[in-house]
Amino acid sequence: MNVYDSVRMADVMAPFGYQASDTYEDADLVILNTCHIREKAEEKVYSELGRIREEKENKKARGERMLIAVGGCVGQAEGEEIFKRAPFVDLVLGPQSYHQLPEMVTQAIRKQGGVVSLDFSAEEKFDALPHSGESQGVSAFLAVQEGCDKFCSFCVVPYTRGAEFSRSPDALLEEARRMVTQGAVELTLLGQNVNAYHGESNGKTWSLADLIAELARLDGIARIRYMTSHPRDMSDDLIAIHGSEPKLMPYLHLPIQSGSDRVLKHMNRKHTAEWYLDILARLRKARADIALSSDFIVGFPGESEGDFKETLALVKEVQYASAFSFKYSQRPGTPAATDDQQIAEEVKHERLQRLQAVLGAQQTAFNQSCIGKVMDVLLLRDGKFAGQLLGKTPYLQSVYVQGGEHYRGKIVPVRITGGYLNSLSGEIVEESTPMRKAS
Ligand code: SAH
Ligand code: SF4
Repeated sequence: MNVYDSVRMADVMAPFGYQASDTYEDADLVILNTCHIREKAEEKVYSELGRIREEKENKKARGERMLIAVGGCVGQAEGEEIFKRAPFVDLVLGPQSYHQLPEMVTQAIRKQGGVVSLDFSAEEKFDALPHSGESQGVSAFLAVQEGCDKFCSFCVVPYTRGAEFSRSPDALLEEARRMVTQGAVELTLLGQNVNAYHGESNGKTWSLADLIAELARLDGIARIRYMTSHPRDMSDDLIAIHGSEPKLMPYLHLPIQSGSDRVLKHMNRKHTAEWYLDILARLRKARADIALSSDFIVGFPGESEGDFKETLALVKEVQYASAFSFKYSQRPGTPAATDDQQIAEEVKHERLQRLQAVLGAQQTAFNQSCIGKVMDVLLLRDGKFAGQLLGKTPYLQSVYVQGGEHYRGKIVPVRITGGYLNSLSGEIVEESTPMRKAS
C-alpha cells in the first residue's frame, strides 16, 4: 500500500514540476512514507531522518533548500510530536492527506516548516487525486479499499488508516483501463482489509468478486491478485471465483495470526482456527492448486507454550507456500499494549525461531516441488547478474532466468531447475520451431 501511495504522491507533485528521483542527495523535497505497524518500522523512520538531515545541511551550506516531509502512518500517529524529536522536518501528513501535498509544500516554503495535515477522509483523498501519468509497469498496484473496522487488539491500522472505505467500481475500472494502456498485465488489488470491499455503483453494491470478474474482462490484463484479506470476509462468491476465473492467480495471502482459539479471541480476530481451516478447505475445493500464505504473531500477551504449540500444529496441517511471522510489538493506543500478561523478549525470540524454522522448511519444500515443472512466469526486471531476468510465477515465487531484453514484460513458459528458500531458478522454454513436412 505504501508503494502505491508513494506513486500517487509523485503524481500529485508532477504538475508542479517535481519528478521522482532515485536518490535524495540532490532532492528539493524528500518524503519518507512511513509504516507504524511494528516498533521496528517506526524506529527506522528516525534513523533514516538522521541521514536525510545531513543532506539537508549540505544543501543549506550551498545556499539551496531541501524540504523534508514525513508521510504515512507514523505521521498520522505522531503528528506534531515528530517536530519535537526531529525539528528539521518541515511537514507531516497522514495517509489520507497526500492530495494536500502541493498546498502543504507551498505553506512550508512560506512559513519555513511546521506544517501538519492529519485529515481522515479517504473518500476526499481519492476524489481529489489527479490521474496517474506515470506507469507502474507491467505489474501494477490498484488501491480498491482502505482502512479497517475490525479492531484486532494488537493493531494500529484502524487508528492510522481510519474507517473502512471502498472506492467506486467506476473509478477503479477507469484507473485499471489507464494502467492497461500504460502497459500493466498484472493487477494487485490492495486494501488493509481488501475482501471487505463493497463499492457502490448505480445503486448496486459490488463485492470484491464482482470487481475481479469485471477487471478480468479487460483484454490486456492476464493476472489478478488481491491482498490483504481477513478470514471473516472470505465470502462464498469470493471463494467460488477462485475456481471460475483463470486470471485470478492460484495464490492467497490469508493471515490467521495464531492457531490457538484462546489467543485469537484475546486478539479480537472474530474467527476460530476451525473457521479458518474450513475456508482453506473450501478454497482448495474450488481451486485444487491454490497455494497459501499467512501472517503470524508470536508472543501475544498471555500466549502460553501450549497456545504456541497449537500455532505450530496448524502450520503443519496447512502446509504454507510462504508466510510472514513477527514478534508481538506493543503499539501505543491499542488494547493489547496495556495488557499485563506481556511475554518476555527471550520467549518471543525463541518462539519466532521455532516457527520460522517450520515455515522456512515448508517454503523450501514448496519451491523444490516446482522443480521440473513448466510454469508461466511474468518477467519483470533485470536479475542480479548480466543477462539475467527476474520474474514471478503464478504463486508469486521469484524466478531467475537467463534471457534477452525482449522477454521483459512478457509471460513466458519457464522450466524450473532449482528451488531454494526465497527463489527459484529456471530456463525459458523456447517456442518449438515448426517441423517441416518431409516431402
Ligand atoms: N489486515 C491484515 C493485516 C494487516 S497488518 C489482517 O487482518 O490479517 C500486517 C500484519 O502485521 C498482520 O497480519 C500482523 O501479523 C502484523 N502485525 C500487526 N500488528 C502487529 C503488532 N502489534 N505486532 C506484531 N505484528 C503485528
Ligand atoms: Fe489490523 Fe488486519 Fe485486524 Fe484490521 S483486520 S485491525 S488491519 S490486523
